[in-house]
Amino acid sequence: MNYQNTLAFAQEQDKQDPLHHFKNQFYFPQVNGQDAIYFCGNSLGLQPKSAQRFIDHEMYKWANLAVEGHFKGEEPWFNYHELLAGGAARVVGAKESEVVIMNQLTVNLHLMLVSFYRPEGKRFKIITEGGAFPSDQYALETQAKFHGYNPDEAIIELFPREGERTLRIEDILQSIKEHGEELSLIMMGGINYYTGQVFDMEAITKAGHEVGALVGFDLAHAAGNIPLQLHAWDVDFAVWCTYKYLNSGPGGTSGVYVHERFGNDPGLPRFAGWWGHDAQERFKMQKGFKPMAGAAGWQLSNGQILTMSVHRAALELVEEAGGMEALRAKSEKLTGYLEYLINDVHVGEDVLEMITPRNPQARGCQISLLVKQNSRVLFDKLMEAGIIVDYREPNVIRVAPTPLYNSFEEVYRFSEILHECLEGVK
Ligand SMILES: *Cc1c(COP(=O)(O)O)cnc(C)c1O
Repeated sequence: MNYQNTLAFAQEQDKQDPLHHFKNQFYFPQVNGQDAIYFCGNSLGLQPKSAQRFIDHEMYKWANLAVEGHFKGEEPWFNYHELLAGGAARVVGAKESEVVIMNQLTVNLHLMLVSFYRPEGKRFKIITEGGAFPSDQYALETQAKFHGYNPDEAIIELFPREGERTLRIEDILQSIKEHGEELSLIMMGGINYYTGQVFDMEAITKAGHEVGALVGFDLAHAAGNIPLQLHAWDVDFAVWCTYKYLNSGPGGTSGVYVHERFGNDPGLPRFAGWWGHDAQERFKMQKGFKPMAGAAGWQLSNGQILTMSVHRAALELVEEAGGMEALRAKSEKLTGYLEYLINDVHVGEDVLEMITPRNPQARGCQISLLVKQNSRVLFDKLMEAGIIVDYREPNVIRVAPTPLYNSFEEVYRFSEILHECLEGVK
């Protein structure tokens, strides 16, 4: 695409953008009496205006039906999770039965590791990305210890080559091959939260399976950001949160994918609760756990209806926008424009280094900028100017224009303000 560094160009792109009006479906935080430029959907997505209505509906049912809300009405709480599985499955490219919405991300990661990290003999190692999100690191570390291993021996962290910022796929595949017979599991982000790098999940899964390991992904930064095909890629399991690119509220519910070959295996070890028990027999309250078929068989507790209702509101917007393919088409242009403008601002790599891959296929909407000097000052200036981005220690500013509620004009204005703020911190 031929980008131009003018406001008129940005406004023309917005005019041609079929998703532009989705902006109006969200609340924007106010800074200095104006809508902020919100590029922080990678941390907490904005509130859909429809969310309140969805919550109110459940509050109304609670007030008027109380306990009977579990079974009465059009959308009984008893199987409320089923209302979400279809939309969520389309976001991650899975069969409906392979997806369940429940709990929160790190909880779900542990539940998956109970079933899919089952070290035996010399096959006890886990490959993961170096510098993974801390919660994922702690989950892997404590799972390894739980099984009696020293995490330093059990966990293999992959780091970029000397002088490089992101992992090369050939190095990941090589490491999988090298550790082949010792590998129990590969568990990494679908997109690295820090650099914004997309990993080739299909190739990694294939390589893992070839050496006899299982493969799972944390899709916190991928779900709702890039199109995924978990089933077609043959991924064994995945987890994600819904409050980042899926706009489902702080601490919102989480998603789990389990490939059907495991979902239909009642013998697979798991930690169980009554909500994963065969629905026909759940209220017989009898001994002997019989899992429901599919990912739903991993549910523990009765559903958190209020946060799940917000997720429903948010998933509806994704569908209305035409799904992940439509969002991705805009996202590539929008982030491409951001990249172009940052380059065009004419700051050298000695001031601002983009550590996100330049190849659009190897990134989602986020661009991570490594700030060489006075990073915190720059960040504070941006925030004061009404731009909400985020700061990751020691010196990275992450900027994530999302296709559902951000515009080309906002990207343009961001680049102007960035330029001004950089002048101010020199
Ligand atoms: C955001 C994020 C988390 C957060 O975990 P919660 O359990 O939702 O608090 C974990 N892992 C990754 C990779 C993330 O990006």
